[in-house]
Amino acid sequence: MSEKKPTRKPAGKPAAARKAQAPARPAAPAPRRAPAKGKKGRGRRGGPSPSDLLGLLVLGLTVSLAACAGGGLFGGGEEEGGQATEQPAGQLTVRFLDVGQGDAVLVRSPEGKTLLYDGGRSAERMRAHLETYGVDALDLMVASHADADHIAGLVPAAERAKPRLFINNGIAGTTQTWGRLVAALEEAGTTFQKANTQVINLGSVKVRVIAPPPGMGDDQNENSVGVRIEFGDFRALLTGDSEKPETEAWLAAGRPEIQGPFQLYKSIHHGAANGDHPAWLAAVRPENVVIGVGENNYGHPTASALALYKDNGVRVYRTDRQGTVTFTASADGTYTVTTDR
Ligand SMILES: [Zn+2]
Repeated sequence: MSEKKPTRKPAGKPAAARKAQAPARPAAPAPRRAPAKGKKGRGRRGGPSPSDLLGLLVLGLTVSLAACAGGGLFGGGEEEGGQATEQPAGQLTVRFLDVGQGDAVLVRSPEGKTLLYDGGRSAERMRAHLETYGVDALDLMVASHADADHIAGLVPAAERAKPRLFINNGIAGTTQTWGRLVAALEEAGTTFQKANTQVINLGSVKVRVIAPPPGMGDDQNENSVGVRIEFGDFRALLTGDSEKPETEAWLAAGRPEIQGPFQLYKSIHHGAANGDHPAWLAAVRPENVVIGVGENNYGHPTASALALYKDNGVRVYRTDRQGTVTFTASADGTYTVTTDR
């Protein structure tokens, strides 16, 4: 098994650009209700009324322009001084799959576009999840880094769902598992990209890629690829196993993607002691944290991480105790949480 597989294919059109051309999704016109930011609450359901639909036609163009302009500063339909707030319809789901010790987060936009961020360490468990949630296609697969507890489950996902685009940190793994993943992605015809500052539009959901900062060497954890997920006023942040040097470098660089508040946040490195820290949480300001954790010999999650979340008033969910944890969010920022147990 070759251990020197390139992490990128030389060719392939930039999928980020391709996705940016996707038709703008219906955007709800100015909601009569005030957005309930950061509140736990029930997602509002129900389709648009006929008058709403008329608004959609008018506002659709505005939204698509805003999406195109959203390259530098975060643009896109928010707080435009007194203008109507344009919010996408439908609901976003973010599932922290119970894969034992490891991370696997399945994201589905209201339009049915999908992202799988990491896959856990068990191909078998991932196969079961793919079956359960009917994942037959993936628009985007992100490997935060190449450690087995993040990529082993990506192999069956690549084989079954044939991702259109794969993003990683550009540092090839050295394991057979990594080789199998690259082979499966090549077989699937997937486009490979190294993490940069891509913004991938999954329908009305924006995925902002957070590349590892320079100077992290070859360490896989410290080169974790993060993603900031935006759906209307709802925000989620996933940063793999980014240990302190990486998060400190992101803070020092003033990366806008890591600025909170976030309704949903993934615990760094399964609640390890070298993951989340006070300065980082002060920037991220998470409301809920999900720890992807199973039986392990590392002491994850650590008492220090749990104490840190408690001190910051963060609600904690754990896949070892609650199984798969699902957030269902509306564009006004409200969401519901369901757990397996
Ligand atoms: Zn890990």
